[in-house]
Amino acid sequence: MTPQDQLNELSKNLWWSWNPDALTLFTRLNRHAFQSHRNNPVVALKYAKKDALEDPYVIEQVDSVYRKFRRYMEEPGGQEDGPRVSYFCMEYGLHESMPLYSGGLGILAGDHVKAASDVGLPFTAVGLFIREGYFRQYFDDKGHQHDDYPAIDVTDHPVDLVTDEEGNAIVVTVHSGDEPVRIRAFRMQVGKSTLYLLDTDFSDNPYWIRFLTRRLYQGDRITRIQQEIILGIGGLRMLRALGVETDVYHMNEGHCAFLTLELLKEELQKGRLWGQACEEVRRNCVFTTHTPVPAGHDRFAPDQFNWAMSTMRQELGVDETTLLSLGRVDENDAAEEFTMTILGLKLARAANGVSKLNGEVARRQWHHLYPDRPVEEVPISHVTNGIHLPTWASPASRTFLRVNLGSWTNDREKQSTWDKIDQVSDAAIWEYRRKLRQNLIDFVAREVAHQTLPQESLLNPRALTIGFARRFATYKRAPLLFSDVERVADLFCKHERNIQVIYAGKAHPKDEGGQAFIRQIYELSQRPEFKGRLIFLENYNMEIGRMLVSGCDVWLNNPRRPYEASGTSGQKIALHGGLNLSILDGWWPEGYDGTNGWAIGNEASHEIKNPEIQDAEDAEYLYSVLEQQVLPMFNNRGQDGLPHEWIKMIRSSIRSLTYQFSAHRMILDYVNQLYHAPVDELA
Ligand SMILES: *Cc1c(COP(=O)(O)O)cnc(C)c1O
Repeated sequence: MTPQDQLNELSKNLWWSWNPDALTLFTRLNRHAFQSHRNNPVVALKYAKKDALEDPYVIEQVDSVYRKFRRYMEEPGGQEDGPRVSYFCMEYGLHESMPLYSGGLGILAGDHVKAASDVGLPFTAVGLFIREGYFRQYFDDKGHQHDDYPAIDVTDHPVDLVTDEEGNAIVVTVHSGDEPVRIRAFRMQVGKSTLYLLDTDFSDNPYWIRFLTRRLYQGDRITRIQQEIILGIGGLRMLRALGVETDVYHMNEGHCAFLTLELLKEELQKGRLWGQACEEVRRNCVFTTHTPVPAGHDRFAPDQFNWAMSTMRQELGVDETTLLSLGRVDENDAAEEFTMTILGLKLARAANGVSKLNGEVARRQWHHLYPDRPVEEVPISHVTNGIHLPTWASPASRTFLRVNLGSWTNDREKQSTWDKIDQVSDAAIWEYRRKLRQNLIDFVAREVAHQTLPQESLLNPRALTIGFARRFATYKRAPLLFSDVERVADLFCKHERNIQVIYAGKAHPKDEGGQAFIRQIYELSQRPEFKGRLIFLENYNMEIGRMLVSGCDVWLNNPRRPYEASGTSGQKIALHGGLNLSILDGWWPEGYDGTNGWAIGNEASHEIKNPEIQDAEDAEYLYSVLEQQVLPMFNNRGQDGLPHEWIKMIRSSIRSLTYQFSAHRMILDYVNQLYHAPVDELA
């Protein structure tokens, strides 16, 4: 095999996204091309410099990385004989160069696909080929967010059109109303997992169908239901056309739940009666819900649903009311909307929330679907989200962990691996933190230099660095820290040059409230008290996320409880020796033990109170934790200049959180608790 062949193969597998050796290799081929396309290996290879390809050192590196890649692909991960899983999700966050995600749901799905590959589970994922992404965020000089939709060029990405032996695209058809929608697919390899991305943007379709797969979470309800028909029904038809065999269908959130209708159709075609067919479908499906916010569930008005489903209804041979009843609580209520989550719950043999608290909330939320059971017996369990450690570990942290904990990627399941952090000296841990903070500050300086939102960076490599980055949905309350501006200004004044805050995040183009939050933070960043030490980084993506979660000392998370299903960004910082300062929402009640970070408020504020009262209470709590615990501990230095108490907390955080909230633990929980059919069904 020539180095060129090896590079071609390497560039076509997202394995590189969690292997910095591979990324470094592609950087060497053409640094400018790589970096100007959001760290894109395919583009770096396309524009590889001739002298780089002829450099003996590069050739040797190519061979070494390639061998490492083949070893990964061939080495068993332990779950090769596990159930064959087909996983459906609306979005996937795999790497910053592929903008197929909007936020936590997509990032989680991307990490899930990678973890499935690591353990060798036979795993196929299905999504949409969102060419124009969610959106690119930019600003005018008043701090108003604007959105723009640059389309990716297919030839610049590790995707291949799925074709038959003659090289013709494999096309399946679904119907939106009575209009045919032709769907083709692009294949993407993510380690050993395969992801099929469905696409309608080609010449077989009229333009109003072509735009359906271009943008994520944009457009009206009709667009949404059409996208969901493509994802669920089209996705399943594509798997059938490709001959992908499946033991369990995993619906990750309600968007893809129409796949159950196609499965139903198949059962009916075998001659089963409706009730029996539903039972058969349930045997093969599991469903994950992520949405405690009632308005966050996809719902369709009966008229819209009936219109969009007219062809499918004929194929199923049922009337409108019967089909609607699959997505309704009350089958006789002609006004009730069709809810995708209800469809998922009704036609899955098992369902789960994504943290312990989220499971409880979901059981209460859907109790009315199971009126003859007590709430604790509502059949929704939980598997707490986790992160794909190799994806989120920064290069500096890989070195630190390798030197101090040994082969942590192989031994990540063993608690003894993480306990080794107790033997690392305070000085080494603090030096690790200093280095990561400095890397972040250098990154911020480069970013603000070319962003549209004017920001000046006066960040100090020794200051307490607080990070807040996530979607700017209003329930996440981005500006909570600034509820009492004078009080924060006093803090900044008192701890001059020793406290700084970095924000990033996109507000949905229709979310006025979220956009106002960004504007508020931008305006504050211009005030003299905060200037240069309160920064908003624009166009949040996985690269900015990676940098922030490695460089920040404190990761602030203050959603309105219990609206955060899990959250995962805080899990990414433990690995880097950062500490969580969070509302006891999502995953944090399971992670927090009093020694490994801080809680804002307590678990009593369980039910949603008057939101203003809750906001005021939580802000007060946040101030008191910051003033009385976080800042004093950070500033309490020994004679050697080290914050020993703080470092003790870092150790506790690394020891207790890293593996527990990893995608490796998560995927094994899914295999053991959801993917394996219950014993009584095997009988
Ligand atoms: C981790 C991550 C998220 C999810 O973070 P939450 O805390 O769950 O909101 C969203 N976007 C990016 C880019 C991330 O890296």
